[in-house]
Formats: sequence, structure tokens, C-alpha cells
Amino acid sequence: MLTTCLRDAGIHVKPADDEAAAHAAAGFQLLNPHRPETVTFPTGSDQVAAAVRVAADLGIPYAVTNTGHGRRRAQEGGLLISLSRLRTVTVDPSSQRVRIGGGARWADVVARTAPAGLMVPHGSAPGVGVVGYLLGGGYSIYGRHTGLAANALHSMTIVTEDGNVKRVEHDTIRGLLAEAWRAPAEVGIVTEVELDVSPAPSLTGGGFLVAADDAHALLSAFPAWAEPLPESITPSLGLMRYPDHDGVPAPLRSQVIGHVRLTAVDDDEVARSAASALSRGLHILDDDLARMDWADAGRIYREPDTPRPHIGDNCLTDNTPRLDTLWPALSDTGDQRVIFDVRRFGGRLTFPEAGGLAAPGEWMLSLISPVTGALPNSFGKTQRHLDQAVTDPVGTTANFTYGPVSSETNTVAS
Ligand SMILES: Cc1cc2nc3c(=O)[nH]c(=O)nc-3n(C[C@H](O)[C@H](O)[C@H](O)COP(=O)(O)OP(=O)(O)OC[C@H]3O[C@@H](n4cnc5c(N)ncnc54)[C@H](O)[C@@H]3O)c2cc1C
Repeated sequence: MLTTCLRDAGIHVKPADDEAAAHAAAGFQLLNPHRPETVTFPTGSDQVAAAVRVAADLGIPYAVTNTGHGRRRAQEGGLLISLSRLRTVTVDPSSQRVRIGGGARWADVVARTAPAGLMVPHGSAPGVGVVGYLLGGGYSIYGRHTGLAANALHSMTIVTEDGNVKRVEHDTIRGLLAEAWRAPAEVGIVTEVELDVSPAPSLTGGGFLVAADDAHALLSAFPAWAEPLPESITPSLGLMRYPDHDGVPAPLRSQVIGHVRLTAVDDDEVARSAASALSRGLHILDDDLARMDWADAGRIYREPDTPRPHIGDNCLTDNTPRLDTLWPALSDTGDQRVIFDVRRFGGRLTFPEAGGLAAPGEWMLSLISPVTGALPNSFGKTQRHLDQAVTDPVGTTANFTYGPVSSETNTVAS
């Protein structure tokens, strides 16, 4: 019945056992995939609205998905609306505005804006969906310079629960997304956004890798180093034990590796001298800080883009964190991988211009761990150390929370 009604409305439909449907139901996050009866692939706002009306008329539950990077809740049965066919990106250099389909990823956008000499407030992974990212506020790798990415929203085209299409603009959007940092804004299905963008000045990006005792030294030194940097520079530190397998370069296998990454907008000299101050005396395994094209910035964080089952938790704080307290947990995770990430917020992320959306803390500490069933012990252990590192937490960001971090029962997409 559902499939017939959707086909009658001219919407592309796949049964759940179809390969494209299974891919849409899982996406990047393989933990607890959607298990719908039917998946639709609408090609525009009208088709999304028609699908919502069909589901409402039949009393069938539905969920919306894009890349699956940030899925929280799995849809059991019913309808899954995949936005993967809404990926059109149109740049208007004269108005400095870019129109982005509700299913576009940041890579789709940067591929258009970088050649046009424009910068956009994207995050660390180019495969992340633009709208899902913005509905959680959007913490850009240039965030201290740009502020929360959602501040750049000029308009959103939304399909409402009753299947109508409406457009909302600037001030209304700020109201709708005021608490986005805490929980993703629930505004309906966003089929298109317009972002205000700005001319791209020079970009310096990259960082360096160190191992073992030097990673420990970095963990201790990073907060005091990052604290006074100008807001043109957005730094972060990742730390994890690399696995012992063939895909990892021999010198890095089984080692705890620290990875400092930074972006500098129009501030090359300060970036280079800051990086060399932090790396002085450390044995550097790899250093790739350089002037770069905006089109290549998605490589700075070196994040894997293969789908995986994972959980992730985080906390925000205003106080300089005592990262040293994390070393015992991070250096002793056994075979389980726990990836720690500290990002220096502050700047325009925390102190935007009047009326702008803000992140409540000046630092964000996060943990991610691959998971195949029960939660890994080392994840819980490191979570407890996180509590010691942060004296006065001010909240948890929606965007860096992955999977059910307190549940023991999980399923993984096949
Ligand atoms: C490797 C990695 C790196 C990341 N880096 C960053 C970063 O640097 N900064 C940052 O802020 N975040 C980052 N994130 C978090 C990311 O922004 C969120 O997970 C975001 O929700 C992903 O959106 P998505 O559309 O890709 O995923 P999905 O799982 O498809 O969507 C996430 C949620 O948004 C909803 N949604 C998606 N599109 C729409 C739409 N068009 N209309 C209505 N609802 C929609 C979905 O229903 C779902 O509930 C990262 C995540 C990963 C896994």
C-alpha cells in the first residue's frame, strides 16, 4: 500500500532489502541502523512533501536520513526518506550566497565554493552532511574565526510535519536553532539552505604527529599553548593508540600517537611560529603544516571515511582542562581503540557578534570508540577520566555525541 501510494505520487521507492536502500539505512554509522519497510529517494521539496503526506494519510511512521554520520534513533518499520538525491549546490558569487540541497555533503559544497574563491564553515570530515551539521550548530575547523556555522544560514526551505513547504529566514532561524548545540534542532525536513559566504583569504593548515612519551608531553602542554592563540587560529589535538595492522605505517603501529592540527585564516606567520613553539624538543614523525588550497582542507584532520559502528561522548567547559589526568586511561586501552579529541573553542564560537548563536564552552573534549556489540570497557574508563580533566562542565554538544553511549545492547549493520 505504502509503496503503491508513493509510486502513484511519482516518488522513487526501494524495498528495504535493496542494496541502495540498505546503504541509505546504515550510512556512515553502522551501529543500530534504520530498519524501515520502504526507502524513498525524493528529488525535490515537492516530492519530500508528498512522501510526508502519504505517510501521514496512512498513519505510517517515518524518519529522514542523509549520510548517517549522526543518526541517534533507528526507525523500525515504516518509511525512511533518504535525501541522497538532493545534492545540488549553486554558488552566486555576486551575492556571496550558496544554495545547498538538503542532502549535500560538505565535499559537494567546497568543490564549488573553493574555485569561486569563497570560504565556507565546514567541519573536519568532508563526507558529513551540511544540514545535519548545521542543525547541531556546526563547529567548523575555522570556528574561532567564523563562529558557529549555523550563524551563516540565510534561509532554510522546510517540509513541515503536515507536508507543507515553507521558507524561513535569518532571525527566525536563530530562534529555531538557539539550543542547537545541546540537541539537534527539530525543524522538519530541510530540503534546501542558503548560506552567506565570504571571500577566501589565505589558508594555512595541517599539523604534526608525535608518539609515546612525546604524545604524553603534548597532552600536558596543549591547553596552555592553545589558550592565548588569536581567533584567526583554530587548533585541536587528537590522541589514540594506532592499531597493529598492515594499513598503518610501521613506525606508528601499536603506538600512542598525538596529532596536533590547526587552521590559520590569513595568519601564516603566527601559525608557523606557534606550531614550532609547541613542537620544540619533540621527535616529530610527520609535519604537514603548509599554505594550502581551500579545496584540500578536508584532509587536515586525516579522519577515516569508511563506515564503522561507533559511539562518542563529549563535554564542554570554560575552564582550561587538565589533560594530563587522561594519560593513564588513553595510554592503556588494550586492544580497544579510544580516540580522544580536544578542540579549542572560544573566539567567535563562544563569543559571537551580538545576537549570534554560540557554543557555551571554550573547550570541547570528546571520545570516540569503535564498537561491535557491548560497549568497550576502555570507553567507560576514559569517560570517568574525562570527568577529572574537566572541573566545571557546562554541557554536551549534540554534534559530537554518537550512538547510545549508555546502552549495552547494540546491533551492527551487515
Ligand atoms: C567523522 C566525523 C567528523 C565530524 N566532524 C564534525 C565537525 O568538525 N564539526 C561538527 O560540528 N560536527 C562534526 N561531526 C558531526 C556531524 O556534524 C553530525 O553527526 C551531523 O548530524 C551529521 O549529519 P549527516 O546529515 O551527515 O548525518 P545523518 O545521520 O544523516 O543526519 C544526522 C541527523 O540530522 C537529521 N538530518 C540530516 N539531514 C537533514 C535534513 N536535510 N533535514 C532534516 N533533518 C536532517 C537526520 O534525520 C539525523 O537525525 C562529525 C561527525 C563524524 C562522524
